[in-house]
Amino acid sequence: MKARIAFMHGPRDLRIREVELPKLEPGQLLIKVGACGICGSDVECFEGKSAEGRYDLGPFTPGHEWSGQVVEAAPDVGDFKPGDKVTGDCVMACGHCRNCKEGLMPSACLEMRELGFMPNSPGAMGEYLILERRYTHKFPSDWNYFMGSWIENFSVGYWGIWGNGGYIDASDHAVVIGGGPIGISATIAASVSGANTIVIDPLPARRERALRYGADHALDPAAGDVAKMVRDVTDGRGATVLVECSGNDKGIASVFDIAGHSCRVGFVGHSIGRKVRAELGRVIWSNLRIVGSGGTRNFMVRTIRFLSRIKDKYDFDALNSHYLPFGELDKAMEIACKEKANAFKVMLTFD
Ligand SMILES: [Zn+2]
Ligand SMILES: [Zn+2]
Repeated sequence: MKARIAFMHGPRDLRIREVELPKLEPGQLLIKVGACGICGSDVECFEGKSAEGRYDLGPFTPGHEWSGQVVEAAPDVGDFKPGDKVTGDCVMACGHCRNCKEGLMPSACLEMRELGFMPNSPGAMGEYLILERRYTHKFPSDWNYFMGSWIENFSVGYWGIWGNGGYIDASDHAVVIGGGPIGISATIAASVSGANTIVIDPLPARRERALRYGADHALDPAAGDVAKMVRDVTDGRGATVLVECSGNDKGIASVFDIAGHSCRVGFVGHSIGRKVRAELGRVIWSNLRIVGSGGTRNFMVRTIRFLSRIKDKYDFDALNSHYLPFGELDKAMEIACKEKANAFKVMLTFD
């Protein structure tokens, strides 16, 4: 069977080709893609600014924020059937290497694959996708594909808040640095818990959006001393939960000033390959508990359950600023690259 699939060959070199799909191996599913969002990390790979997309190893198919419908299951797969609506993990651990056997996060896997970033793990910027059932997750059939494509994205912000070694409730002051798609997900996850939720972003449109999606306060870090602004809206306590979603140098440095004593800090925004100057001494005296998020383990099923309860209270469709057909992938990428301020989420649509 033939399908049109996109391949990233290098910076600004994304080509759609018709290819013959391989036959399914045991445990695999053939999935017809329904929608695929363009992530900031896809844009960075396209622009040649990130080492995450491994075109040095060969052309690869991007797209890790996707949803689709199972059209065929390998004979040994009994738990998925044609018609099931599904999405999937991005960071895929092998499950059998030494680090996987020790129970470490998927990012520790010695044979780690990353869907949509490597030639050995094609993503969803194509009409069809083949994926092992162990990395595939069903979502309710009454959700549209655009909602389904938000699951992976949402799981990262949700992990930043909840996977962060614990809990959040109405006693917390939760600070979200960065009001992009991951930040808005973290904002929703924090605010439904009842926590005083504070979003920090220099872009006015992002601050306004954060307020519409549950933030109690939205602060402009360029307007003055952001740590003081946070203390002012937390009764002097500072953040008790903080998630860094911006990946921006100033945003990262501000974590150590904003976090209150014993704050649970999650790092989610990518900054790999850069050194950031920050006052790390505060980790000691503020007793910060800092965790990473590489390969948000076992969080997709929980994310789908969480979204099932809350998705109708928020206008997820309105978060998709642009819809373009897959055939106009070049144009969609250009919009995502050039209009970073108003292209909140560019969605690729499929017939
Ligand atoms: Zn992403
Ligand atoms: Zn492994």
